Amino acid sequence: MRAMPALTNDFSWSRSRDSTFQECRRRYFYRYYGSWGGWEADAPAEVRRLYILKQLSSRQQWAGRVVHDAVEMALHAFRDGRDIPVEPFIRDVIERMRGEWKSSRAGRYRENPKTVALFEHEYAVDLPPEAWQALSRNVSTCLRNFFRLPLLATIRRTSPEHWSIEHWSKVFDFEGTQIWIAPDFGFWTGEGRLALVDWKTGGANPDAAAFQLGCYALYAQAVLGVAPRDVDLYEANLREPQVTPLRWDDERLEAIQEQLRLSIRSMKAYLADPEANVAAITDFERTEDLRICKWCNFRAVCRPEL
Ligand code: SF4
Repeated sequence: MRAMPALTNDFSWSRSRDSTFQECRRRYFYRYYGSWGGWEADAPAEVRRLYILKQLSSRQQWAGRVVHDAVEMALHAFRDGRDIPVEPFIRDVIERMRGEWKSSRAGRYRENPKTVALFEHEYAVDLPPEAWQALSRNVSTCLRNFFRLPLLATIRRTSPEHWSIEHWSKVFDFEGTQIWIAPDFGFWTGEGRLALVDWKTGGANPDAAAFQLGCYALYAQAVLGVAPRDVDLYEANLREPQVTPLRWDDERLEAIQEQLRLSIRSMKAYLADPEANVAAITDFERTEDLRICKWCNFRAVCRPEL
């Protein structure tokens, strides 16, 4: 058998990388360096452990992913000209969720780290059944809202060959750094404008959302060659439901680029060898805010006393 070429840990930038870095440097180290290679069955035990912890999602993150996947599936069906019976579709989604929840509770992810792994199970967080029920109710609400959204009706009136469900590139080069950021969905409006959509399932954080949407405008320019003034960004909060349209101009884009540069520079400044993307754990301090630690995936390794 021929050996697979080894993957190299190349530096790249994403929104979640940026927010991890802001929250806690040590967590950033674990997530992007310490756990690297842990998918190999013969990885050193501590690397493997970090990798499994890295995969954990909070129940809210998990619910968000379930909604995103279901929306993507629905858009695929619409693109292929199929219709969707809403209630049976939602029932299936909830049924799959139940299966994933059971798999996580049984700890399957310890052998199969790609299967759903919930923080609440790994850390034995005691939650009443109502908390889990509320979660699946939220997923149902978000999906029901999705199917009723006037924005969806607008999308369905446009030509599906021009929809982007997953085929546009997710990564682009920004001044020598690979940037991983792509909107959830894109389509061309009847007026010939590019519309990018972000499905949201949780509470809004206006600052973070503005930065993210700014990055999408950058994406439109870099990947699709569309000027920011020709792009409409829609933040679709499926919980409410509420759709917020945003427009960009070149000047605001400049500010986003500056924010990106600064973020990349700060991350690189922490590296022992920025060229080779090599990091040393001792350079990455632990946060002093123990409220962050409480919900941190790496708590068991980093602050077991909590
Ligand atoms: S437990 Fe706290 S200090 Fe350690 S990585 Fe997590 S957030 Fe950072």
